[in-house]
Amino acid sequence: MKYHVWTEGCQMNVADSQRLESAFEKLGLENTPRAAEADVIVLNTCVVRQSAEDKAYSYLQSLRPIKDRHPETVIGLMGCLVGVKNNGRLKERFPWVDVFAPPSDPTPMVEFLRQREGLALDQSEVAERFAAQDNEIVLPLHQRGRLVAAHVPVVLGCSHACTFCIIPFRRGVERSRSVDEIMVEARSLVAQGVKEITLLGQIVDRYGYDLQSQISNLRSTIYNLQSQTPLVDVLRLMNDLEGLERIRFLTSHPNWMTDGLLDAVAELPKVCEHIEVPVQAGHDEVLARMKRGYTADDYRRLVEHIRRKLPGGSIATDIIVGFPGETEVQFQATYDLLAELELDVAHIAKYSPRPQTVAQRTMPDDVPPEEKERRRKAIEDLQEHIVGEINARLMGQTVEVLVEGEHKGKWRGRTRTNKLVFFEDSRTDWRGKLTNVAITRTGPWSMQGAVD
Ligand code: SAM
Repeated sequence: MKYHVWTEGCQMNVADSQRLESAFEKLGLENTPRAAEADVIVLNTCVVRQSAEDKAYSYLQSLRPIKDRHPETVIGLMGCLVGVKNNGRLKERFPWVDVFAPPSDPTPMVEFLRQREGLALDQSEVAERFAAQDNEIVLPLHQRGRLVAAHVPVVLGCSHACTFCIIPFRRGVERSRSVDEIMVEARSLVAQGVKEITLLGQIVDRYGYDLQSQISNLRSTIYNLQSQTPLVDVLRLMNDLEGLERIRFLTSHPNWMTDGLLDAVAELPKVCEHIEVPVQAGHDEVLARMKRGYTADDYRRLVEHIRRKLPGGSIATDIIVGFPGETEVQFQATYDLLAELELDVAHIAKYSPRPQTVAQRTMPDDVPPEEKERRRKAIEDLQEHIVGEINARLMGQTVEVLVEGEHKGKWRGRTRTNKLVFFEDSRTDWRGKLTNVAITRTGPWSMQGAVD
């Protein structure tokens, strides 16, 4: 049997799909990049904005004729469209979907196939292939030995409840995974050729605050855990993993970034100096309506502090334009803040009302679509200019690049600060290797160079 997984959305969904694919392969299924030839098709969905949700609906519709022609094809729906509470109305709306699974949990898919197809793990060949790694995340075959940078979720769900955000409703309350689980998964990824691991959480800096008792038990047993910020303990353990070259973590929240965490980034050689810390808006009234819990000045001070602790590091942010009630003056404050701070990346989104959220229930979506687009474009143009200038300073410098693979005849990799670099060299297989690259051309979105 063949499976096909379609993934939309954030890195967390990419990691969830990997776990699902690995579970399918343990059942003996094979991957296919073509949905039309698959026996099992799964959509791993995102609903953070209406546009992402619409993509999932349109793909779901396109599967209907396949199901009509081949009723035995299994169609699965997973992720934030389903949510942790499993929205029963989806079954009425999409009767051709056979099985629904919440985010980060492939069990319903696997159980469905086991029951319907009588698939069992004890098929000898499959059992042998996975014997050494049972209960670990094993990459799907097509990624083993090829995937250089992987993600490991460390905090599932979110309990912060920003007024615009649907994630707590769909991914549930914040739950940290155990240190053991994370380390088993990380070791298994490294054994399969992964060189860079990004630890994921909606507020990743909050890792472990819900696990204090477990952490203190571990402290006295296998691991020598000592930090006040439990994420630092995980970073230290990861830093000791032989074969792993780089570690990243995202997403941070301005209120949970500790000195201990920044010191760990500065001190641990494998942890990259790149912080993803969304500001969302630059005006205090908008930030208050978003319930972010900080002011624009707090964010300014945080950026200064990060730069003091991590000189030469990079900072990425997220911005929402057109939040309910955002006036021209308030938008301008966001624009001015970005112009002042000159951050390395700004992910810009137009506000989209999400069901159940406080903003959707109580704040009219009153910024017209054309105005949202104008604001988005203004910030995009500003950011393009800023990043173009930041990257131009790298011209002629030598940077360390971890090569992730090939793209259109060039090697493609990233600097420690998460900037894309391309270089040509047909004599060496650079995939998965660290190399120094002298930068010969720069632009806002990527750079070109030559192996030093
Ligand atoms: N947990 C992180 C935080 O907000 O601090 C980021 C999580 S969210 C998956 C990624 C981004 O999607 C957010 O930072 C925000 O900019 C954007 N986003 C979330 N809800 C949105 C909405 N209703 N409309 C537009 N963008 C939204």
